Amino acid sequence: MAKLTVEDLPLEGKKVLMRVDFNVPIKDGVVGDDNRIVAALPTIKYVIDHGGRAILFSHLGRIKKEEDKPGLSLRPVAERLSNLLNKPVTFVPVTEGKQLEDAIDNMKNGDVLLVQNTRYEDVKDGEYVKRESGNDPELGKYWASLGDVFVNDAFGTAHRKHASNVGIATNMPGKAAAGYLMEKEIKFLGDAVDNPERPFVAILGGAKVSDKIGVIDNLLDKADKIIIGGGMAYTFYAAKGIKVGNSLVEKDKIDVAKQILDKAGDKLVLPIDNVVADKFNNDADTKVVEGDIDDGWMALDIGPKSVEEFKNVLKNAKTVVWNGPMGVFEMPNFAKGTLEIGKFLGTLTDATTIVGGGDSTAAVKELGVADKLTHISTGGGASLTYLEGNELPGIAAISDK
Ligand code: AMP
Repeated sequence: MAKLTVEDLPLEGKKVLMRVDFNVPIKDGVVGDDNRIVAALPTIKYVIDHGGRAILFSHLGRIKKEEDKPGLSLRPVAERLSNLLNKPVTFVPVTEGKQLEDAIDNMKNGDVLLVQNTRYEDVKDGEYVKRESGNDPELGKYWASLGDVFVNDAFGTAHRKHASNVGIATNMPGKAAAGYLMEKEIKFLGDAVDNPERPFVAILGGAKVSDKIGVIDNLLDKADKIIIGGGMAYTFYAAKGIKVGNSLVEKDKIDVAKQILDKAGDKLVLPIDNVVADKFNNDADTKVVEGDIDDGWMALDIGPKSVEEFKNVLKNAKTVVWNGPMGVFEMPNFAKGTLEIGKFLGTLTDATTIVGGGDSTAAVKELGVADKLTHISTGGGASLTYLEGNELPGIAAISDK
């Protein structure tokens, strides 16, 4: 069902509550990478250019005790946002009460206000009460009472049911809309999973099979091929009776891997060869082996034949979704498989190419091919939930058109 978007809402003179994702790295009171703030600008600008009063909510990090609060204040974000927008941003250092309500009452059309970290609500009087993270019904109702309409542009938290996304939205029926970032995520991930141009190839990597079983299950019905790389490939090796040496294997997932292999037939594409190392270290002795991996050796990257095979599968694809690295790419000597796949995706200009997850995103950015891809998802966990075919509560709570 199509969802309301920010362009469907009345904005002129309205108090527009906005859930954005300002969960950025902050060191010594200064914002580091401000990508997420920059990504929220189009929706914020649209709201203020149309006479709305933008009241911004975001979480920052995790707050479990009172002492976590000072280091996780959003004040530095207000400063950076003010520089980026080239206009003042009022920062309110609390999440409820008269100070916040007065500040909102004093806003004029086009003003911007940032509320303190929503997770300050998770600790009250020293107790870990999880009012925000547990979607306390009173909190969502209170925040909703502060505005006229609601815009959710925080895809990264859409897989969570929190007061600042689901709570506010459910208390504003017919008035909760998606921002541009959210709309883009729904469009690209939604089309890729539910209505892909074929062939549709998924590339899954990363450490654990257990994290991605739901995704494999869902995509087996939808994708034409699923390429498996990274540490998770070796649990599949074990399921096939291929020797894995000291490679990463989840023993309790071998049976599930067997079931997936049975169901998948030739849909699942595993590495043919691997770069194996004698220890988990960038300076380890290495060699490339096909098939069986001897004891004392562990596979830390896919090998050159696997890279060629994967490229072969990818070259005619019309839709590609990639999540997770092909090896221990943090170590330069085991980054090649991940980088080669990232580089190749950048050449597939006829295909819709979508990357999700922190590591694969870092790889395509490092390679400078990010702008050649169709879409880089801003939410790792949220995009995986989407790929699993599960409903995202943050999106479900947005009003239908
Ligand atoms: P994930 O968070 O599940 O996407 O996994 C990412 C992590 O998987 C990265 O830190 C990689 O270093 C790790 N990884 C990828 N391939 C391997 C491998 N062959 N052996 C051990 N760890 C791996």
